[in-house]
Amino acid sequence: MVATPIGNREDISSRAKAVLAEADVIACEDTRHSRPLLAAFGIRGELLSFHEHNEDQVTPRLLARLLAGEAVALISDAGTPLISDPGFVLVRAAREQGVRVEPIPGPCAAICALSAAGLPSDRFLFVGFPPRTRAQRLAWCEDFVKEPGTIICYESGRRAAATLADMADALGADRRAVIARELTKRFETFLVDGLQALSERLASSPEQQLGELVILIEGDLRSEDERDRAEQLRVLALLAAELPLKQAAALTAAITGGARNQLYKAALAARDKTEA
Ligand code: SAM
Repeated sequence: MVATPIGNREDISSRAKAVLAEADVIACEDTRHSRPLLAAFGIRGELLSFHEHNEDQVTPRLLARLLAGEAVALISDAGTPLISDPGFVLVRAAREQGVRVEPIPGPCAAICALSAAGLPSDRFLFVGFPPRTRAQRLAWCEDFVKEPGTIICYESGRRAAATLADMADALGADRRAVIARELTKRFETFLVDGLQALSERLASSPEQQLGELVILIEGDLRSEDERDRAEQLRVLALLAAELPLKQAAALTAAITGGARNQLYKAALAARDKTEA
């Protein structure tokens, strides 16, 4: 498993180059993409196409070569294989057959972004690519709405504004987030803001929609009590917009388990604030 650059060609390790130069075969996602990269390092070995659509069929062939004693290197178009890229089926099969699997570490967009984003890095959750539709994305966010660690996902520049808008709806408009775009490339950019503001900034700047990006979102750092209180106030606001305040407070208390009197006081305070 050999990591290749995610942008700057010089970011490949010298160990990676040595392993690739000595491999009997290099399995790669797209030979047209990898051949020029490898040629730039003077590597001209056998390349074999290995991608998400043929991983199941090609794995037995690669396994047979491994078991015959050949050295097989796996690379993806960029970064670390298996991280939102093919390779899991092969690695699992190789391990099951007792074949030695060696990682040759190097760039990975998620880790590269996390190392410079300025968000907590002691705990994080990588969630791959978001689904394509709004309904699917909102449901997907539910899986990590309470995650306290930093949430990291991959996205293409042209879908990012819509994805961020859905994340703002699901996780909170003001939830702090970072967009790490075009890492290690000429137009490397980090944008730091709330989810809603980031979505609007991207929607209004076509140049920020170009290329590849990583989205990092601060985890939910609130205590259980704070989260419960926020949920009570959210329900109260919805009901108070439609019902008399006493009734809204009573219903909110019944739905969320909050204290009726406190909710009524909060509803009065919110009304006074809007009317002031
Ligand atoms: N295996 C790769 C890795 O280790 O990072 C990731 C492959 S995944 C198919 C491609 C996604 O990674 C892109 O859509 C983008 O979200 C992210 N990515 C790759 N290169 C990037 C870069 N230079 N800057 C920002 N994001 C990048």
